[in-house]
Amino acid sequence: MESKPHGGKLVNRLTDKLPDCSSVVNISTQNALDLARIADGSYSPLTGFMNSDELRSVTDNMELPGGAIWPIPVILQVNGRYSFSAGDRIALRYNGEKVGCIDVSEVYNADMKRIILKTYGTIDPAHPNVNQTLRQGSRIIGGNILALRKDETDKLTGPETIRKVFRARNWETIAAYQTRNPPHMAHEYIQRLAMELTDGLFINPVVGELKTDDFSQDDIMDAYRLFVSKYYPDNKVVLSPLMITMRYAGPRAALFLAIVRKNYGCTHFIIGRDMAGAGSFYRPYAAQEMLEKFDIGLQLIKIKEAFFCRQCNCMATEKTCRHTTSNRESMSMTEIRNRIRSGIPVPEIMMRPEVTELLSSRHSKQSFVDR
Ligand SMILES: [Zn+2]
Repeated sequence: MESKPHGGKLVNRLTDKLPDCSSVVNISTQNALDLARIADGSYSPLTGFMNSDELRSVTDNMELPGGAIWPIPVILQVNGRYSFSAGDRIALRYNGEKVGCIDVSEVYNADMKRIILKTYGTIDPAHPNVNQTLRQGSRIIGGNILALRKDETDKLTGPETIRKVFRARNWETIAAYQTRNPPHMAHEYIQRLAMELTDGLFINPVVGELKTDDFSQDDIMDAYRLFVSKYYPDNKVVLSPLMITMRYAGPRAALFLAIVRKNYGCTHFIIGRDMAGAGSFYRPYAAQEMLEKFDIGLQLIKIKEAFFCRQCNCMATEKTCRHTTSNRESMSMTEIRNRIRSGIPVPEIMMRPEVTELLSSRHSKQSFVDR
């Protein structure tokens, strides 16, 4: 049976027509993506941007005031000379277009440094989310939202749609695979292990807003489409993008990403090394420990870091191989990226040649950062 949504019920805050609003506010990419994910139920049980009680409860206790586990602030920081108060209905504008509205329940100020420190474990500006969050300011509006429905009939996205796909395939057990990269051999190894254990694999790459040195969303999705069609059996994999701003919050982010996949109906969550980390801000298995501590009802498929062992002559992990590290070829996306960028071949033990070819044709001798 597919998982029940987090908090019991799948939220739907989509509308075909926005109600009249008293004023309008411009919102960031992160806000626009959060708005859309609250509205389509990906963030169930959230029905809006957090008020101060919710924010405090989430940052300090990792739960919503109603008791549901929730690790990540989802807030609407308002930068600018706006005057709002509780009771106002405000239109939310992104890139010049009204995309939704919020019924303001509270306008408040928060100690953003404290919130960032609690959420990310650091206020180091080298962390990809820290400056971005600080820049948005400390003035916040909380309240329930509505989002304008987009015509996405041609797209396989959102928990309601994905749940229908799972049902149509009669999958009892579904493993969610979190990623923000094109597939390399260690990813494939882990996915195949999960496919042995479950009826189906849900590959759900985060592609909304990533670090500048990550691959683009087209690279990730096109690489996966090609890879899945070349190597995995039909009807065993569902591939769908998750449009969010990536919070590189290590363990807290891993828990958040697991909750989202529970809302999509997944029963299992695959968790490898250093999920949702950045640089060396988090211990490699801190995310696994977090998911063990906070049980949201998903079965965990915990995998150690996979590598190619030259003695075993296959993919393995420290649990399955006896050889020393000097025999092991680790799969580093940074290394693969650098090779592609410099036109140096990527060995087939690291990445499928079709995937390398696709990425090379787009990026060879180009700078990722300049893109
Ligand atoms: Zn070995």
